[in-house]
Amino acid sequence: MELPFAESWKIKMVEPITKSTREEREKWLKESHYNVFQLMANQVYIDLLTDSGTGAMSDRQWAALMMGDESYAGSRSFYELKDVITRLTGFDYVIPTHQGRAAENVLFSALVKEGDVVPGNSHFDTTKGHIESRKAMALDCTVDIAKDTQLEAPFKGNVDPAKLEAALEKYADKIPFIIVTITNNTAGGQPVSMENLREVRALADKYGKRVIFDSARFAENAYFIKTREDGYADKTIKEITHEMFDLADGMTMSAKKDGVVNMGGFIATRWEDWYEAAKNFCIPFEGYLTYGGMNGRDMAALAVGLDENTELDNLETRIKQVQYLASLLDEYGIPYQRPAGGHAIFVDASKILTNVPKEEFPAQTLTIELYREAGIRGCEIGYILADRDPITRENRFGGLDLLRLAIPRRTYTDNHMKVIAAALKNVFDRRHEITRGVEIIWEAPLMRHFTVKLRPLG
Ligand SMILES: *Cc1c(COP(=O)(O)O)cnc(C)c1O
Repeated sequence: MELPFAESWKIKMVEPITKSTREEREKWLKESHYNVFQLMANQVYIDLLTDSGTGAMSDRQWAALMMGDESYAGSRSFYELKDVITRLTGFDYVIPTHQGRAAENVLFSALVKEGDVVPGNSHFDTTKGHIESRKAMALDCTVDIAKDTQLEAPFKGNVDPAKLEAALEKYADKIPFIIVTITNNTAGGQPVSMENLREVRALADKYGKRVIFDSARFAENAYFIKTREDGYADKTIKEITHEMFDLADGMTMSAKKDGVVNMGGFIATRWEDWYEAAKNFCIPFEGYLTYGGMNGRDMAALAVGLDENTELDNLETRIKQVQYLASLLDEYGIPYQRPAGGHAIFVDASKILTNVPKEEFPAQTLTIELYREAGIRGCEIGYILADRDPITRENRFGGLDLLRLAIPRRTYTDNHMKVIAAALKNVFDRRHEITRGVEIIWEAPLMRHFTVKLRPLG
């Protein structure tokens, strides 16, 4: 008999979590104005709000923490981190920052100016924010199939080369760099193929542009290349990682994702001119160059995390857990962005709550129902998150309306996955009875999802 798959680690420390009653959850929902960001974490049983900074560090990472060098300048922990990054990516210049958006802030301060255009594949919201706040434009060149949630394709995160080339021709001198997000978070944690990264490189070379990878989930992307793309089955994750970064000029990184630390990020590049330019913004915004925004101990833990999470065992355990949850949803017929992404399942609310009009926010309604059902906190990635059009002030109903179930790394067991799937099934079974959604009673002008106040209708 073939042995079943199991985790590549055992558990040394546990953190208790507690269930609540439906009455309690009803009260807490009301108190938080039906916005799950406003819940206290101890009101949540299984927390799938994000996979960012919520993973479990290994014993080796905790041990490294104790060895951190807190020297202001020239910290040994910085050099340990830099050596790992250089070994994995080939980039010689490294600037630590306190998280991914800080890396964007520092690097884009040096590179992006008013009137610029930055093409890429579904820019992440902070990336887009750091481009738009500089009065530049983030131009989405993602493949069209990313929008069809029911289509099974191996690399739905790809850049469409035809759209990219049209942008390079049209905007020419206005383009400071191309940015490729691996994996493509906004499109549902969908990977980008090596072939596509090569096509982007070829176009960049043809038009004399540089390429940045927004690399939060680069290791998960390497896993998908290994398991889905011809010619990579026998390569190690570290070999694939190096081959990916050979096609880039630099990277921004949120270490809270594939670095498996609770806080941290960095910029890395092969170009001295980019490093020199970014330095001038690191020092005033983040800190001196050998710590940026990070403690010595956090850099030490990150060095270990990057090394561990570019090993197949660790990635396979993670991605198979996400795929296990997807297989349960398949069994129950619940629609989500197919195939399952690396870090999350994106449930297609518009295909479930078909009786709730879009003006009443179906994905947010589903998010509330799942919490009400079992104390499980997901996150709306839909019409509320999309904010209003800056000019017309109308809600933007053009994109997808999804409930994201982000799975923290090494945190929950497959039994938790069973609970999540069963809770969602219970909501799914009564989907036709759910006919009303929510209305907004207060919202902030920008990034309203964090603080929006809602009222249930009907
Ligand atoms: C999380 C994330 C960021 C921003 O990183 P923070 O650490 O949250 O600041 C940027 N890009 C992508 C693709 C991300 O997932």
